Amino acid sequence: MAWDTYYRDSIAEVELTAIEYNIQQLKQRLEKETEICAVVKADAYGHGDVQVARAALKAGAKSLAVAILDEALKLRRAGIEAPILVMGWTRPQDAAVAAENDIALTVFQKDWLKDAVGFLGINALKLHLKMDTGMGRIGVRTVSELGEVLAVLAETPKFQLKALFTHFATADEGDSQYFNQQQERWDEMFSYFKRNWADDVEIHTSNSATSMRVPERMDHFVRFGISMYGLYPSPHVKRERPIDLKPAFSLSSRLIHVKKIKAGESISYGATYTTEKEEWIGTIPLGYADGWIRKLQGAEVLVDGKRQPIVGRICMDQFMIRLDQEYPIGTKVTLIGKQGDQEISADEIAEHLETINYEIPCMISQRVPRVFQEDGRTVEVRNSLL
Ligand SMILES: *Cc1c(COP(=O)(O)O)cnc(C)c1O
Repeated sequence: MAWDTYYRDSIAEVELTAIEYNIQQLKQRLEKETEICAVVKADAYGHGDVQVARAALKAGAKSLAVAILDEALKLRRAGIEAPILVMGWTRPQDAAVAAENDIALTVFQKDWLKDAVGFLGINALKLHLKMDTGMGRIGVRTVSELGEVLAVLAETPKFQLKALFTHFATADEGDSQYFNQQQERWDEMFSYFKRNWADDVEIHTSNSATSMRVPERMDHFVRFGISMYGLYPSPHVKRERPIDLKPAFSLSSRLIHVKKIKAGESISYGATYTTEKEEWIGTIPLGYADGWIRKLQGAEVLVDGKRQPIVGRICMDQFMIRLDQEYPIGTKVTLIGKQGDQEISADEIAEHLETINYEIPCMISQRVPRVFQEDGRTVEVRNSLL
């Protein structure tokens, strides 16, 4: 059981009002009929699965998507009744668990269907059929494979085909050549499908980048992930700014020790940093076990509205910064977020780490409590340790 408190001032604040704002911004851009499916896989990109799912549904999202069955089951256990899609591969022997909990699974292998049917009980299983139009990850790649899967589906009433979908590999880039190629493959497979399947099914082809940049697509719903959290899918889309977004995630701690150090003294493991003059050094109780990885040595944090550098190696549970002056114990330190007119964004951290912003909230570990807010007011705390 997670107690709704914590005993260390290193927390991730998740502004649920921002999530709602981002959903509303996208809604205004989409065609009226197009619904939003909130992608809450990977603990809602590290933000907090159940709380984000509830906020997204409240803001008008009609369904939820996750990567694996366990994530879907967690949402059901929390009492969430909205439609849920598992977008990854599920073991055929787990089809019954999905069906019992009214969770839709992704299918693309005919042998999977033949295996899974043997495990099903009385409940029918909802399925979304995945086309691989160029992502090269999962999905049927040809019309003949598609035909084989449809043939098995047609003879098995326990399977309910609900939707057809695909995923674009380059929707966040300026060059649209590969995107158009995927679109052509999709058109070809979809027209084959329409000729060979009598019932109407839903289609969904858009992630954040596609839904914001090509909002006029006739998707029944879009799979809204990264931008629901207030981050643009790439620097290119950030420059385009198709809609306004507010980041929901911030990370902060407090100074727990401040000391003046003489010139020529060293800091942390390996003594990789040596003071050049007399310096104020602050200690922050957060480290690589919290996801604040060692590669962040040399990055900056905000104290008193000013940027202050991380010095010396980051330890498992603590790291040090060079301060521009003395500060009292308990002074707030912002690692991701705003202080005054300064901001350290997930994009900036991603750039320092030579990765994408998606990775940043995902890498902040479960040891860091998630503090959920609405309009800056704390409404819930999730501490996975207690
Ligand atoms: C993660 C994922 C999404 C969401 O992508 P974003 O770029 O975060 O919007 C959509 N579809 C699939 C299949 C995914 O795996």
